[in-house]
Amino acid sequence: MTTYRAPIEDIVFAFDHIADLPRAAGAAAMDAGLDREMLELLIGQAGQLAEGVLAPLNQSGDAAGARFAEGVVRMPDGFVPAYRQWREGGWNGVSAPEAWGGSGLPVLLNAAVLEMHTSACMALAMGPVVTQGAVDALLAHGDADLCARYLPRLVSGEWMASMALTEPQAGSDLALIRCKAVPAGDGTYRLSGQKIFITYGEHDLTDNIVHMVLARLPDAPAGTRGLSLFLVPKLVPDGEGRPGARNDVVCAGIEHKMGLRASPTCTLVFGERQGGAVAWLVGEPHRGLACMFTMMNRARLATGLQGVAIAERACQQALLYAWERRQGRAPDGRGGTGEAPSPIVAHPDVGGMLLAMRARTAAARAIAYATATAIDRAERGEAEGQDLADLFTPVTKAFCSETGIEVASLAIQVHGGMGVIEEAGVAQHLRDVRVTAIYEGTNGIQAIDLVTRKLPRKEGGVVAAVLSGWEQILSAVRAASSRPELTGIAPPLAEAIEATRRATAWVLAPERTETERLVAATPYLRLFGLTAGCALLAKGALAAAARLAEGEGAPVLRRALVNAEIFATRLAPAAPGLARVAMAGADAWERGRESLTVEG
Ligand SMILES: Cc1cc2nc3c(=O)[nH]c(=O)nc-3n(C[C@H](O)[C@H](O)[C@H](O)COP(=O)(O)OP(=O)(O)OC[C@H]3O[C@@H](n4cnc5c(N)ncnc54)[C@H](O)[C@@H]3O)c2cc1C
Repeated sequence: MTTYRAPIEDIVFAFDHIADLPRAAGAAAMDAGLDREMLELLIGQAGQLAEGVLAPLNQSGDAAGARFAEGVVRMPDGFVPAYRQWREGGWNGVSAPEAWGGSGLPVLLNAAVLEMHTSACMALAMGPVVTQGAVDALLAHGDADLCARYLPRLVSGEWMASMALTEPQAGSDLALIRCKAVPAGDGTYRLSGQKIFITYGEHDLTDNIVHMVLARLPDAPAGTRGLSLFLVPKLVPDGEGRPGARNDVVCAGIEHKMGLRASPTCTLVFGERQGGAVAWLVGEPHRGLACMFTMMNRARLATGLQGVAIAERACQQALLYAWERRQGRAPDGRGGTGEAPSPIVAHPDVGGMLLAMRARTAAARAIAYATATAIDRAERGEAEGQDLADLFTPVTKAFCSETGIEVASLAIQVHGGMGVIEEAGVAQHLRDVRVTAIYEGTNGIQAIDLVTRKLPRKEGGVVAAVLSGWEQILSAVRAASSRPELTGIAPPLAEAIEATRRATAWVLAPERTETERLVAATPYLRLFGLTAGCALLAKGALAAAARLAEGEGAPVLRRALVNAEIFATRLAPAAPGLARVAMAGADAWERGRESLTVEG
């Protein structure tokens, strides 16, 4: 049995000192009574639901898995009532507009809620993530009738949604999509084809499921320019908007995955029984991919948050175990009495792993929350917010999901042999989080997006402004080096910024070939994430040091200093090496690829 404690203090600290909550909410919202007390209450309630209702389902849900029989998917025991409780709490619509029944709160708030609910039970919490994606798509592109018919039920969570892009031959390459939609002459379309890997494509949590499907119109040009977005309800609503006749879409099966076993990943077949599923066009014809892209930033933030969430839970579990398990004698016999063995937390190697896990988790949270603030600002029309959201989204998705994987793997290491025994519950975290580097655009695709599309924006002006912002943090750290923790941060932070500056200039140089940029992409993204994490934790450390100097003594302040120092001294020094890898050019790769033959 594993437990979870919602890290409220760390979340509130990140709101206050890293992600700039008032900026996320906007001055107008704060003036209009969006007060701190209310926000803290909300975070506290989300934490209670996570600890008391969702967390107890995590292991049992994994063991039972979602079950498929004759087109129907049944969720594991306890999931249906837990979802009902979650929905009745209004958690589905935290950041949805009030006009559609949501709470209209910042994306940053929703990010914290999502983090806690995902830590508690990722398989259940990821269903609503997809629904929130469909809400975003309808808000941005749906016509008045579609919005009126579907948004209230999707925002409340009465119905859930799926996002159906992938087909057997079309994964990363959506240009290969074959699903078709033909006009029916009455304003609707008939959609046919097969989609695979569709998260929550079928289940028994809600009566109706609203599929958002990418397909081609008959006159569509080839490639991604010929894709249109369609809404296909499982049950077609009647005149009153209630779930009506069964549509021509069936679930042909669910995948048996290494993790997330309670989250149904479905094969959906459209149009095999009645000649086509009734579908409605969302947005303009042939603009489907653009429609999907408008909500990509939030969906990719959500995937990064899954990495943060699992990392947090893995940290908590490893720390508990490291205090319980006794082996050997640590230096100075620390933690052991007489001849008794020490708790393994006292061994420098184990303690080092735990400190690195916690620091990396805090850095990932900082990056994800700062990105949420940028998205909030972008949604209010702030150009700088949009620039930052666009630049940081691929970094958040890839760096935070890799953090989840790395931290979950280290949690197994801390557990020793028990780590690979399922009953201990720690292996599940790695199994669950592994896919976050794959779906919502693989991490390789994120790195390519960063290097080829985001860095060149405004002739490198966006990334240059970010680098300057980090340098300001560095100057403040240097100026405030009164505490030993801060003194240790400045040199590696300076090196990491300098390494990122050099690698950025190298990648953006006009003489770079396309291959050189693509070979550089993944090490560059890791470098950028490392430096961003180091700078943001340093920013938090400055605030923590100031509050400690004023006489406050909350443990979260000490933790913020420790996380920043550990990240800077034990993780960030990898930055210059990553920059060297990014700038190594493509010659070794060109020579090496000759050897990638399967003949031997
Ligand atoms: C559990 C789970 C849930 C999912 N949920 C959904 C869902 O709800 N809706 C949905 O539509 N899809 C969903 N997917 C599908 C997911 O989005 C795809 O698996 C993902 O986009 C990758 O596609 P692929 O699996 O075909 O891999 P491929 O595209 O075949 O990629 C294989 C490898 O090649 C690399 N690669 C591919 N193209 C390029 C390129 N141009 N440049 C460099 N490298 C490249 C990739 O990075 C990867 O390493 C889900 C998948 C899983 C496993």
